[in-house]
Amino acid sequence: MSDHKTTTQAPSNFIRGVIERDLANQSYAGKTWAGTPGDASHHEKAPMDEAKIRTRFPPEPNGYLHIGHAKSIFLNFGLAKDYDGICHLRFDDTNPEKENQEYVDSIKSNVSWLGFSWEQNKTSHLYFASNYFNFMYEAAESLIQSGHAYVDKQSPDEIRINRGTLTEPGKNSPWRDKSIEEHLTWFREMRDGKHPDGSMILRAKIDMASPNINLRDPAIYRIKRAHHHNTGDTWCIYPMYTFAHPIEDALEKITHSICTLEFEDQRPFYDWILDRLIENGLLSKPQPRQYEFARLNLTYAVLSKRKLIELVEDKHVTGWDDPRLPTLEGARRRGYTPEGFKLFTDRIGVSKADSWIDYATLEESMREVLNISCERRIAVLDPIELEITNYPENIEEDCFAPNHPLKPELEKRIVKLSKSLWIEREDFMEVPSKQFFRLYPGNMVRLRYGYVVKCTSFEKDVNDKVTKVLCEYLPDTKSGTPGSDSVKVKGNIHWVSKNHCYHGTICLYDKLFSAEHPGSQDTNYLEQLNPNSCITIEAALEKSLEAVKPGEQFQFERHGYFVADIKDSKPNQPIFNRTVTLKDTSQKT
Ligand code: ATP
Ligand code: MG
Repeated sequence: MSDHKTTTQAPSNFIRGVIERDLANQSYAGKTWAGTPGDASHHEKAPMDEAKIRTRFPPEPNGYLHIGHAKSIFLNFGLAKDYDGICHLRFDDTNPEKENQEYVDSIKSNVSWLGFSWEQNKTSHLYFASNYFNFMYEAAESLIQSGHAYVDKQSPDEIRINRGTLTEPGKNSPWRDKSIEEHLTWFREMRDGKHPDGSMILRAKIDMASPNINLRDPAIYRIKRAHHHNTGDTWCIYPMYTFAHPIEDALEKITHSICTLEFEDQRPFYDWILDRLIENGLLSKPQPRQYEFARLNLTYAVLSKRKLIELVEDKHVTGWDDPRLPTLEGARRRGYTPEGFKLFTDRIGVSKADSWIDYATLEESMREVLNISCERRIAVLDPIELEITNYPENIEEDCFAPNHPLKPELEKRIVKLSKSLWIEREDFMEVPSKQFFRLYPGNMVRLRYGYVVKCTSFEKDVNDKVTKVLCEYLPDTKSGTPGSDSVKVKGNIHWVSKNHCYHGTICLYDKLFSAEHPGSQDTNYLEQLNPNSCITIEAALEKSLEAVKPGEQFQFERHGYFVADIKDSKPNQPIFNRTVTLKDTSQKT
C-alpha cells in the first residue's frame, strides 16, 4: 500500500524557486491593490496588497476545459495558496467569435470541482478581459501618441511578405513613418467603423529587423465586425491576444504570469508593452513577469480544443461530457476525482521541457486515490449460473463481506448465499488451461466470504455453450468460522446470489484512441479511434447497488473502480461507468 500522504507532498519546481527568490528579495513588497483591477492612477493611492503574490488562470471561453487545463489550475491556484497569494479566474475573452456563456459556466464549475475558489475573504476575483476593452483602447492611443504604434494599410499579403523570414530581416511599411496625428485619426476611424474588416491594422513600432520575428512590428488591434458575448456590438475593433494579455495581467496586479512554452518567444513583446505603458504613466510598477512551463501531453489522448471540438461535432463521442473524453466534464462522469488529479499533477511536476506523460500515470493516480476512498461491492459482469447441488433448496445464509479491507471501521455487510448463484463465465473452464486455478470439473475454489466448493459437472445448450456449473460445497469451510481454511484452494471467486441481485447496465470504458500519440507524424487521429472504447454490458450486481446515488463510487471486487453515472442513471436504476481497472492491463511493446 502506498502512503497517500507522503506522495501528495507538493514537490519543488522552478516556478516555486522564482517565487521564493522574489519573496526573499521583496520584489513585490511595494505593490498596492485598490480592491479591483485598474490602471496606475487606480492603484496609486491604494493600500499595500495583502496578497504576497497574484497568479491567474486565464482560459479563453471557447471550449470545455481538459486535463491539461487541470495542470494549469493546480499550478496557479496551488501556488497562490502555498505562498499567501490570490489566484484570479480570468476569462480571456478578447476574441469575439467563438466565445459563449455555456463555456464560461462550465469552466467555473470545473474550477470549483477541482477544489479551488476565486473568492478570498469574501471578495470575488472573477474577471473578464473584455471589461478592459476601454483601457486597451486608451493604451493603444497612448502608444500611437508616444510614437510606439502606427496604423498600417498594407494588405495582409504585403504585411506577410514584408515581415521577412528567419534568415532575412523584414521591410518597413510605407505607412510606418506617417505623422502621429494621421495614425491617431486612422485608428479612430477604425474604431468608428469607417473601414472594412482586414483593411488596416494597428501595429507596434518596434524593429522590422529584429531576429525575433515576434518583435517585427506585431499587430495589436484589428478590425473585426463580430458580436461579442459580453460587449455586444460596442466594438468593431478587437485587441490581439499578445497585446491584451500583459495588459490584463498588469491591471490585475498579477505578479507571476504562468503560461505554456509556446509563448516563450512572445515574452520580449510582453515586457515591451508593459515597459512602454509604464513609461507613458498608464500602468504602474512592479510589473508582472511571464514564466513558461511545458504543457501536458497525454498518450492515447488529444488535448487540444480544436480536436476535441471536432470529436464532439462529428459525433465520434456522445458529447462534451462523454466519459472517454479528456475534458474535465468527461473525466468527472468517468469517475476521475479531484484528489486523483492532485496526485497526478504532483507526480508529473512542472518542467520546462516538453514530454509525453503516459496515460497509465493518470490511471494509477486515480486508482491509488479510489483504493482508499471506495467501498467494495460485488458485480458479476458476464454471468453464468452456478448451482450448489448439495445445498438446501429454501435456505439463505448470511455471509459477511468487509466494506473496505483497509478500513475495518466501515464494518462488514451481509451478502446472502443460496443454492443458485451467478459467477463470472471466465471463472469456469471445461478444459483448464495451464495456470488456471479456478473452476473446472474436479477442482475446488473458495466462494469469496462463503464456502469452498468443488465442481462436479456442468450443462451446455445446443450451441455447445456452457449454461450452468454444478458444484458441491464443503460445509466446514465457511469463511470466518474456525477451521475454515483446513481445505487449501488456489482460486477465490466472487458471486452474487440469484435471489439477491439485480441486472443492470455497466459501461466498460477504455482509451478513446488506440494510437499512443494520436495524430503524430502526419497520421489522422480520427482514424486511430479505439473501436472498443465503450462496451455496454448487462451485469448481475449485488442488490444494495440498486439504490446508490449518481456519483457514488465503488470498487467492484476483482474488476476495478466504478461510478454511478451522473447523467443517465435513473432512480433505482444506476448505470455504472468503469473508471479504471484494478491493474494496468495495457500492453507495452
Ligand atoms: P488549447 O490549445 O487546447 O486550445 P489553450 O491554451 O488555447 O488550449 P486556454 O483556454 O487559452 O486554452 O488555456 C488556459 C490556460 O490553460 C492557459 O494558461 C494555458 O497555458 C493552459 N493550458 C492549456 N492547455 C494546457 C496543457 N495541455 N497543459 C498545461 N496547461 C495548459
Ligand atoms: Mg489559448
